[in-house]
Amino acid sequence: MHPFAVSRAADARDAIVTQGNDPSVAFIAGGTDLVGLMKDGAATPLHLLDINALPDMAAIEIRSDGTLQLGALARMSDVAAHPAVRRGYPMLSESLLFAASGQLRNMASMGGNIMQRTRCAYFRDGDGLPCNKRTPGSGCAAVRGLNRTHAIFGWSESCVATHPSDLAVALTALDAIVQVRGVAGDREIPFQRFHRLPGNAPETDNVLGRGELIVGIQIPPRPEARTSHYLKVRDRQSYEFALVSTAAAVAINGNRIRSVRLAMGGVAHKPWRLHEAEAALSGASLDDEMSLKAAIARSFINARPLAHNAFKVELAQRCVLRALRTAGART
Ligand code: SF4
Repeated sequence: MHPFAVSRAADARDAIVTQGNDPSVAFIAGGTDLVGLMKDGAATPLHLLDINALPDMAAIEIRSDGTLQLGALARMSDVAAHPAVRRGYPMLSESLLFAASGQLRNMASMGGNIMQRTRCAYFRDGDGLPCNKRTPGSGCAAVRGLNRTHAIFGWSESCVATHPSDLAVALTALDAIVQVRGVAGDREIPFQRFHRLPGNAPETDNVLGRGELIVGIQIPPRPEARTSHYLKVRDRQSYEFALVSTAAAVAINGNRIRSVRLAMGGVAHKPWRLHEAEAALSGASLDDEMSLKAAIARSFINARPLAHNAFKVELAQRCVLRALRTAGART
């Protein structure tokens, strides 16, 4: 690994100014992804600014209006185990517990989790094959190479990578808000707009600017959140990223769906919301498998599988159906 310096930030404003003024500075909290990227040569900061001591950034609390407030420095394991999260947002807890390992979850922060970079092997390995995300303008080895784990939605010729965060899928389904503090002031970013599709600039994963720090994540109260489930399908049952995954939250009236929120992981450069299926599922009976399948299929009409991942189109729809039924059974 390249040589680098480490210092501790004591004040958020100073940290933001320091990082904003110097492109060689990177924030570090748990470091569970950043250190791996540095080992792989995919990130080369010369100065790590440790933000773990910044005050008021580790909250896990339900506000009086029902909003769930998560500090950016709250640890994955603490959020997953919190009684209010387990009771009110089962899929959020599950999305955290199905990720990484116990040791990593004890270290990894909320803010760092949603900043994770793709697990595309061409990007991580850096073995000299083209990768626009690692070396902009070099090309994409995956688009016509080994692409079994890659995207079926929203990809471009420049990049077909998927986003690796499980948590981000649940947050997308719940319309969470990313709270950001920056040199120019504070701003709130709707979660669906936080990550971006690759387009012609796959080196940019999200809309966070230099000199901006994630300070928290807010989840507004949702009638569907309590009856929710996160289902992750992967090549092995632990310590593995998703081939496909589904966050499903559903409000039921009798056995009929009143409203539903669906998002998928492992299918695009960002967590992928299934708006068409959500609309088509409204009013459907959870017992009517044919109708459920037809409604879910609405969101897959525009799927564009690559040479090695056509199986994901069917697998993803089965994953949605099972997650939806499991969530519905929790009423
Ligand atoms: Fe790089 Fe994206 Fe292509 Fe993977 S899919 S090789 S990350 S450009």
